Amino acid sequence: AKPSKPKTMISNVRVIVRVRPFLAHETALQDEHTIPCVSVLAANAEIDSPDEVSVHLKDQETSRQEWYKLDGYFGGEDDNVECIFEKEVKPLIPGIFQQCNATVFAYGATGSGKTYTMQGSDLQPGLMPLAMSTVLSMCQATGSIAEISYYEVYLDRCYDLLELKEKEISVLDDKEGQIHLRGLSRVLVTSISEFHDVFARGIQKRKVAHTSLNDVSSRSHGVLVITVSKTSDQGLETSITGKLNLIDLAGNEDNRRSGNEGTMLQESAKINQSLFALSNVIYALNNNKPRVPYRETKLTRILQDSLGGTSRALMVACLNPGNYQEAVHTVSLAARSR
Ligand code: ADP
Ligand code: MG
Repeated sequence: AKPSKPKTMISNVRVIVRVRPFLAHETALQDEHTIPCVSVLAANAEIDSPDEVSVHLKDQETSRQEWYKLDGYFGGEDDNVECIFEKEVKPLIPGIFQQCNATVFAYGATGSGKTYTMQGSDLQPGLMPLAMSTVLSMCQATGSIAEISYYEVYLDRCYDLLELKEKEISVLDDKEGQIHLRGLSRVLVTSISEFHDVFARGIQKRKVAHTSLNDVSSRSHGVLVITVSKTSDQGLETSITGKLNLIDLAGNEDNRRSGNEGTMLQESAKINQSLFALSNVIYALNNNKPRVPYRETKLTRILQDSLGGTSRALMVACLNPGNYQEAVHTVSLAARSR
């Protein structure tokens, strides 16, 4: 196992785990002996380092088990997106008013709760709307404005989801290393209900895009960007102070198990490539490596100005409590990034 980090070292990228509860149709198939395959041994972590948790995964059938060290754990009785928001996401928001970009990812297999965590449902807003609310109230307090963009990255190409027509976006970087998504629309949002209207259209577009293939949404990365700008005193010019990327990553299915073929295999290869590249980038940043391999994939290129430097990020590794193999696959990659 990797040694604990020195207490003084603050990672720019925190990696936490969220375990969703069993769903009604899952509990219906269980008996009274079924227990989740994921648990946390917080006690041991508290002694070594208060900022780390040890996540314990155990296969109930074979009794195989593994431990991984991460920055936080949310699940079980107190699984609550507001908790994650207050503790892990809200602290990133003041930075985007001061030239420090931030990124939040949900990572995990299909069905593990990524979309639920990021978008939420009608009853339970996820991290995207919660972040939007906080940004909007800070905009009021500071005389700033917020705009949103929403696009997806599919097979290493970017598509604008706030445009009616299908539109591919090209990624360019300027001499200062700033990334530009040419032609990407930004829509001004002044209230949470406006946000919901605009975002719902994007979500709908994402559902119907690529009609020949089913459920592309879980095989593409969905990126919501909240851009904050400040208006000059004369009110004539605005300049961007920072942006927050909120990303519902594609499912990290394990190909060897899912037996994908053809297009599906090509898709999975791209997905795995980009998730692996992302984890390499985060690892390089958190371990002060001289070279950070941003250029490997579209996703990491796009995030070049939002990961590293003064930027901060949070990776939420989402787990289905009933799938040990998937949990190991997800947590090992997440833990490897730290
Ligand atoms: P993913 O986006 O990773 O494929 P979803 O977010 O769609 O997974 O979640 C799969 C199912 O589990 C959905 O029906 C969702 O409503 C439910 N779910 C996910 N997380 C939770 C949670 N924390 N509490 C209750 N239900 C959840
Ligand atoms: Mg999803």
